[in-house]
This record gives sequence, structure tokens and C-alpha cells, in this order.
Amino acid sequence: MTIDDIKSLLLKIEEKPFRAKQIYRQIHKNKVNDFDLMTDLSKDLRSKLKDIASFPKMQYLKTYKSKIDSTEKYLFELDDDNIIEAVYMQYDNRSTVCISTQVGCKMGCKFCASTKNGFVRNLSAAEILEEVYTIERNKGDINNIVIMGIGEPLDNYDNLLKFINIITDEKGRNLSHRSITVSTVGLVDRIYDLANSNLDINLAVSLHYSKDKKREKFMPSAKKYKINDIIKATDYYLDKTKRRVSFEYVVIDNVNNTREDVEELKKLFFGKNVHINLIKLNPIEEFKYDKPKENTVKDFCNRLTSNGLNATIRKPMGSDIDASCGQLRNNYKR
Ligand code: SAH
Repeated sequence: MTIDDIKSLLLKIEEKPFRAKQIYRQIHKNKVNDFDLMTDLSKDLRSKLKDIASFPKMQYLKTYKSKIDSTEKYLFELDDDNIIEAVYMQYDNRSTVCISTQVGCKMGCKFCASTKNGFVRNLSAAEILEEVYTIERNKGDINNIVIMGIGEPLDNYDNLLKFINIITDEKGRNLSHRSITVSTVGLVDRIYDLANSNLDINLAVSLHYSKDKKREKFMPSAKKYKINDIIKATDYYLDKTKRRVSFEYVVIDNVNNTREDVEELKKLFFGKNVHINLIKLNPIEEFKYDKPKENTVKDFCNRLTSNGLNATIRKPMGSDIDASCGQLRNNYKR
């Protein structure tokens, strides 16, 4: 709820709307998610609030800790027993959480674990927020949020925007817009909407292939959204927000790192203020391609940069606990 939503709720139960500020502070500054612990409110008000409102359940079902880096992966159980995953990472004294926006995913990308069990439902703005706060209660305030967990964030657009508006609210958690990155498979109409919403957040687009034909083979959404249209939309985004746009590119050896791919990427991006973020394919059971060798990815990166493109390799984290890109899913066996 926004602070105004809480005011309306208070009016409905014939309470003073100025209490909204206190409640909002408890939730977003003190991270309290239990009305009984809001001891600055009268017992009577607390009990009335309990009757009319609740916090979403975000229960730790399991925590996996990586042995190779600081990464932790959490399995959270929701009110309706569905399960989502979120990841906590620390790097150079900065902490980042990677959060989910849906239970499952409709997009059907062949290489991604998150979509293998289909789509179940959207997460509410409160649930998305509670992922962050649940982690912050244990780990302290985090610096960055990457919306790159389970689901397609722009397919849950209204809740995503509500979540961003609340977590960046100066009167509450006050996280800066620039600390937030949304990753999308490339839902063109929504990229325009996001640009017009005037939020200063970072945008990452999962490109992965340099030509529509190949992209369509691995990413069903590519049949509807063509690369050129995606780039027109991201150009608009860049122009409107002045935020740098990045393109994620999962390297699959001999599939999308050929000489032709370098040429095509050059045609698409040469001279533009975009960043190509190379990701090593992380193996998942259902996608029978190998993880590329370190040198294969480095070599591809070098070929891109020597052709004048701005490319870097994303540091993989938490791969030993299936917490890396594309490995999150919702099928924990109880
Ligand atoms: N639906 C959004 C958010 C998911 S972000 C999107 O598609 O962008 C997760 C990132 O990991 C995406 O770039 C996704 O394409 C990538 N990814 C998926 N499966 C992967 C895998 N097996 N190995 C490496 N990256 C993968």
C-alpha cells in the first residue's frame, strides 16, 4: 500500500489518517511485518488493523550458501504454498538482491529453468517488496536490486511499477531508482510504457541472438517482438531516461558466437551507447548445450570490443547452488 492507500484504509475504520505515516514508517523504515510489534499504536488500533489488513507470507523454506562466493539462494514459501526463489550477492562491499516477480513464467525460453513448469501467477507488489525486506531483516540494507529472478517483470507491469514506486518513496525505504535494474525478454510495448513512466531505472534486455530467425528458435517471444523493434524501443528509452541500456547475451558456443554474429551485432550497435553483457550459459537439465569454456567467452568478448562494441563478461555467482542466471525455478520437492 502507498501511504495514501493506508490513509484511506484508516478512514474506512474511522481512525485518524495521520497514523498512516507512523504505520508506513514501521513497515518501510523498521521493516516490521506484524501489527502486534507496532507498539507506538494503541492496542485497539492494532487489533482493528489485524482484522482488515495483513502482510504477505514470505517464509524461508530453505537457504543455500555458495562455497565459492558470498552468494545465498533462498526458497520462499508464499501464502498459497507456492514457491519462489531470490538470491543475495555481495561483491566489492556492495550487496545485491535478485528477486522474482512471478511464480513461474510464460515466456518459454528454451535455455531457462524458470519457465519449465509454466506460469502459475503474478506476485503482488507487496510480495515483491517482502522478498527484499525479508532478506534485509537478516542481512541489513542492500545496495542494489536486480529484477532478474523468476518471471518476466514487464508481464506483471502494474505490480512491478507499484513495487518500484513504494521502495523508492522518500518517506519510506527511499532506495534510489538508479539502484534498480529490470531485465526483460523484450516486451516492446511495455518498454515504451516504462520509458514514459519517467522512472530512472536501468533496463536490461535479454537479446541472446543477433538475428530474429535464430532468436525465435530459442525464445518464443521473438516471434512477436523483432530485434529491430526492440532496439527502436530501447533507443526511445535511452533518449527519454538517459539511463544506459544493456543487452544480455548468453553465450552458447558455436550457436551465437560466430563471425556472422559479430557482424550482426556490429550492425545493430556500432556507435551506440549500449552495453553488451555476456553471460556464460549455465547448464540446466532441459537444455542440452554445454557451458562454454572461459576462453571461448573471452575470445568472443575481445572480438566484439575490437570491433568497437562495448562488451563485458558478467561475473557468474552462486553457480554451485544453482543460483546463477537462468537457474531459478519453482519446483522444490517437499
Ligand atoms: N524474464 C526476464 C528476467 C529473467 S532475467 C528476462 O528474460 O530478461 C534472467 C537472465 O538470465 C535473462 O537474461 C535470461 O535470458 C538469462 N538466462 C536464462 N537461462 C539462462 C541460462 N541457462 N544460462 C545463463 N543465463 C540464462
